[in-house]
Formats: sequence, structure tokens, C-alpha cells
Amino acid sequence: MPYSQRGDQNYLKLYNRRKVLGIFRAQGGMSRVELSRQTGLDKKSITNITKELLDKQQIRFERLEKQKAGRPKEILALNGGHARCIGLDFGGSHITGVILDFAGKVLCSDSVEVNLREPLDPDLFFSICSLMIDNLLLRASLTMADISGIGIAIPGHSVNNGQAVLVENIPCLKNVDIRRYFRKKYQKPVLVGDCSQLMALAELHLGAGRSAESFLVFDLGLGIGCGIVINQALYTGIGGKAGEVGHTIVQKDGPPCSCGRRGCIESLASGWALHATASEYVRLHPEDVLAKTAAPGEGVTIKHLVQAAAQGSEYSARLLKNAGEFIGIGISNAISLLNPPLVVLGGRMLMDNPIVLDAISDTIRRVTIDVIYQDTVISVSSIGANASAIGAALQNMDRIYQMEEEDPSHEKHPQRALAL
Ligand SMILES: [Zn+2]
Repeated sequence: MPYSQRGDQNYLKLYNRRKVLGIFRAQGGMSRVELSRQTGLDKKSITNITKELLDKQQIRFERLEKQKAGRPKEILALNGGHARCIGLDFGGSHITGVILDFAGKVLCSDSVEVNLREPLDPDLFFSICSLMIDNLLLRASLTMADISGIGIAIPGHSVNNGQAVLVENIPCLKNVDIRRYFRKKYQKPVLVGDCSQLMALAELHLGAGRSAESFLVFDLGLGIGCGIVINQALYTGIGGKAGEVGHTIVQKDGPPCSCGRRGCIESLASGWALHATASEYVRLHPEDVLAKTAAPGEGVTIKHLVQAAAQGSEYSARLLKNAGEFIGIGISNAISLLNPPLVVLGGRMLMDNPIVLDAISDTIRRVTIDVIYQDTVISVSSIGANASAIGAALQNMDRIYQMEEEDPSHEKHPQRALAL
């Protein structure tokens, strides 16, 4: 058989297997008849594909489903034990980790509060990460031999396959080759990505993506980022840096920003900006409720502002509302640019924080042109604080789903296979 014809047949088989896996991934367990209906493939092809996937242990027999007449139907589903990936999320104030299985189930999670905005020895930082990985493995009763890959979410971007750039919230990681460190230590495939984009990846597979083809996810925390999903695929831009809504300028000659410019939304409304503004206020106004809410010497966090606002601190309520308004303007600008059907709000700033959430929602409604606003549903993430860590693990799981090692194009491009 000529090479090109063999290549075409291999590609078609691979394409159909990916299609079937994608349906299991998006919709859970189902029968072969239902698979045939959804893929448009005949029953014989589905029987062959499911046999192959069962042999590879990528899917498993889940249960028998009774029918009104005839034999019960076999329901097949993804086999969670086929692969497991670790996801780590490095925020400015925390390190969060999860272990995710092939079926998208979070087997365990862990989080520690660490002030990474202060200078920290990278060796100490990596020691904390190692302890977290050990702890996750212990809790899931797994060893590193059971892990297929490690994904890492950073509040910035990586260049050269792992060197961290634009990581103002974690100065100890600036220009550090994170991927190289973890690959060397654990001898596993490692992928590094932006935390907001990975949050969007988590929404795509385990959250909002189940109901919308395209959507924007806003990651509101110490920094402000955005993940963009278009036609069920993450859009990262030509240099992988799409979604930097936090560094769009909304106030000419405004306060200095961590990026070195002035008046970005982050400089006015992010967690770190509120932390700096409120800490200075407390120093000048020790009589305010806010000063009594925050622990002496620790600085003011969003949690303190929320507590103080609930206890009558007008300053705290005003600061939170003002931040929500600036964020709302940024989101409205993004909505006007892309006209998405869905916007998902996520991140630690929103936790138990109705003042900011209300201010964001009210501002988007107020400043967006009516006919554009009407097209967009605004919702809050259902995945919660682990979203970026889950997205980091999913990024690695995607590699396994795609079965790239079997992609026939590697025969022509061996360097691609090596890069994996
Ligand atoms: Zn900036």
C-alpha cells in the first residue's frame, strides 16, 4: 500500500478514536448505539473503536442498562485509572495542587498559603512544591510511577517551553526555567501555562464548556487575567499571551502598575493593588474598623476588607465597590471586542465577596451597549479555587487524549515526537 494511502487510513482511525473519546469526555458514559448516533459512524466501526479503546484501557465497562425490550445495553465510560496527572497552581499568596484522573475526577487537592510576592529563595520555593507533591501522592495512595505528567499554572507566561516571564506576582520565579526543574527532578513530561488560560481550560472540559462553544473566563485574584475559548478551543494568541485584560490601561497617568506602566486595571483593582492601598490607609487611620480587622503587621487582604465592610467600614465597602467597577469596565471592553455568548467570573477575589461581584455585574450592565450586553450570559465559576490547578493537570491530560504519540505525521516530523 502506498505510504500516503496508509497515512490517510491511520489518520482517519486516529481521528475517529479521538472523536469517540471526546464524546465520552464531554458527556460521560453511554452505549455503543448512542455513540454511533452521535458520531455518525456505523455500528461496526463503533464496535471496532470501542474494542480498541477497551484493550488500551482508556475506557471501561460501567454498567448494564435495562431496556423495555431486548438485551440490556452496555454503558461504557472513560477509565479514570488509565492516567493521572498532577496540576500545580502558583499564585502570589498560595500554592495549590491536585491530582486529576483520566475521567476528569479530582482525586485529591491541597493548598498552602505562602507569600510569594516577597523575595524568596527559589530552592525554598521548590522544596515547598516537592512537599506538596509528596503529600498529594500520599493522600491519593499513589506513587510517582502512577503519574503520567505534571502541569504547572503560573500568573504569567512561559517562553522557551518553560522559562517564566511576566510573573510580577512571584518575583522568585522570574526567568527561572520551571519546566526544566520539574522534568529533571521527576522525569515526567511537564507543561507550564498561564493560570488564567488554564482556568479557562478547566471550564472548557469540566464547567462552562459543557453549555457554550465559546466563552471568556476572568481570573480575579492578586492579579487580573482572562482566558479565551473560541469554538471549544483555547485561544492563546501568537505569542501565547492573549487575555492580559488586567494590563489594559483605563486611567491615563494612573497609579504605577507591576508591569512598569501606569493606570492598568491591575494597578487600580487587583488584589495586590487593594492590599497596598488599604495597608497605607490603615497606617494613617488606625481608628477605622478595618485596622482592627487586620492582624497587626500582616497587611490588609481582601478577606479583611470584606469583613470590615460587613462591620460598617465605609472605606472598605467603597474600595471594594470601586475595584469591582474598574474590573467591570475591563470585562465590558472585552465583551464589546469579542461578543461572547458567555462570560465566567472566577478567582479568589470573588469568594464570599458580594460587594465586588455586584459592582462588576452592575458596571457591565451599565457601560456595555445594550444590544451587545443582551447576547452575553454572565455567570460565576462552579469549579472554584482549584480551577487553575485542575487546568494545569488537564493540559497534560490533553496530550494523552490526543494520543499524539500515534499521530502518523510524526513519521515525517520526528522532532515533534521528541519534543513530547
Ligand atoms: Zn500593568
